[in-house]
Amino acid sequence: MSGWQASILTLYPDMFPGPLGHSLSGRALEKGLWNCDPVNIRDFATDKHRTVDDTPAGGGAGMVLRADVLGKAIDATSNAQDTRPRLMMSPRGKPLTQHRVRELVAGLGVVLVCGRFEGVDQRVIDGRNLEEVSIGDYILSGGEVAAIALLDACIRLIPGVMGAQASGEDESFEHGLLEYPHYTRPAVWEGATIPAVLTSGDHAAVERWRRDQAIRLTRERRPDLLADDGGPATSS
Ligand code: SAH
Repeated sequence: MSGWQASILTLYPDMFPGPLGHSLSGRALEKGLWNCDPVNIRDFATDKHRTVDDTPAGGGAGMVLRADVLGKAIDATSNAQDTRPRLMMSPRGKPLTQHRVRELVAGLGVVLVCGRFEGVDQRVIDGRNLEEVSIGDYILSGGEVAAIALLDACIRLIPGVMGAQASGEDESFEHGLLEYPHYTRPAVWEGATIPAVLTSGDHAAVERWRRDQAIRLTRERRPDLLADDGGPATSS
């Protein structure tokens, strides 16, 4: 099969493609630039009630996704020849970055495991080499929304998905800085004008202004993104 292959293991396959069936990613899906393959974990349950979870060993609240059921679902989706990385959405995982997104897009696709309940039996995470990935320091009710966020970030970078290739390269994080502010018509809105430099026609001055703004915003909001030495020098 051609196109970037996204296999998503979930208890809610109807959530996919969901929002990814719209706009940029929806058109890319129609064009076959990526493929959406939701796999229902419940199809791999073996008892007559199609049970996928059980109580935590050691006691405590909630339920845990069973290793045997999820293990079978993974093996049926991704065989030994499949070189795609296997990611599990998890608040315990490494925070997702634009750098990791670019790496994932450069490959053939991804196998994504969406957790539910308290989480997933650790033995399947270890036994199937699942790379835990977080989309932020907060708890979602399930991995599906996190998977959609990860896929959205990847799909827009697949070659041919974005009209103007350049628009992907000027975003926040791509140069280690937050993006500068944008303006468009009308020239005056509720008494507020557009910074004069942007309408001056002086392209070098516009570039300088944007870079200075990007550095200012990054210092204010995300000093952690700037290098220890204080980050990129201002152009002024
Ligand atoms: N008890 C777990 C949270 C379970 S939330 C803990 O404290 O770590 C249920 C599922 O939602 C998780 O298995 C995971 O797949 C998904 N999830 C929740 N928050 C997430 C986040 N910030 N990033 C990625 N996935 C998340």
